[in-house]
Amino acid sequence: MSPAAVSHLRVNGDQAIDLTAAEQAVRDLLVALGRNPFSEHLAETPRRVAGAFAEMLTADPFDLTTFANDEGYDELVLARDIPFESLCQHHLLPFHGVAHVGYVPGGRILGLSKLARVVELFARDLQVQERLTTQVAGWLQEHLEPLGVGVVLEAEHLCMSLRGVRATGARTVTSAVHGLLRDDARSRQEFFALTGTCR
Ligand code: ZN
Repeated sequence: MSPAAVSHLRVNGDQAIDLTAAEQAVRDLLVALGRNPFSEHLAETPRRVAGAFAEMLTADPFDLTTFANDEGYDELVLARDIPFESLCQHHLLPFHGVAHVGYVPGGRILGLSKLARVVELFARDLQVQERLTTQVAGWLQEHLEPLGVGVVLEAEHLCMSLRGVRATGARTVTSAVHGLLRDDARSRQEFFALTGTCR
């Protein structure tokens, strides 16, 4: 099992996905919704839906090896506008948007593209945006011994767009900051200015 998969299981205590049981559950849901799952048009739907959920709830395996910060780089590293998709745990509907992930290196550094992988690791789950934000920041805090960490997520929730208040286009912004990006006014301001979510 990959290191990423291990940490994912540790954080969320997931069980393995049972595709056959998921298919049957989708069939049952269709019946409960007054639809005929054996009709020509819906016959393949349970299999497709089960497969789609399994895919949306499984992060691709990848290597999140960190490296010693030999150069002693101590300025902000920021990956902006990382696209992500996740599933709202309250409605099983997607929420999606962009993540801005930054840190001020301390002991360890991580390849730039890996910042997007950390977001994916926690996004491919039944989530709430607040927890997703703190999990990404917490992972960086734990694995990089950074001087500071900042994570901002901007997302549209389909459970708010398609139903309920039907607030199409409304974006929810969440942030989690640690260390210098929390306590040092200049660093904090620089981070939020660079993410375009100045406050
Ligand atoms: Zn929801």
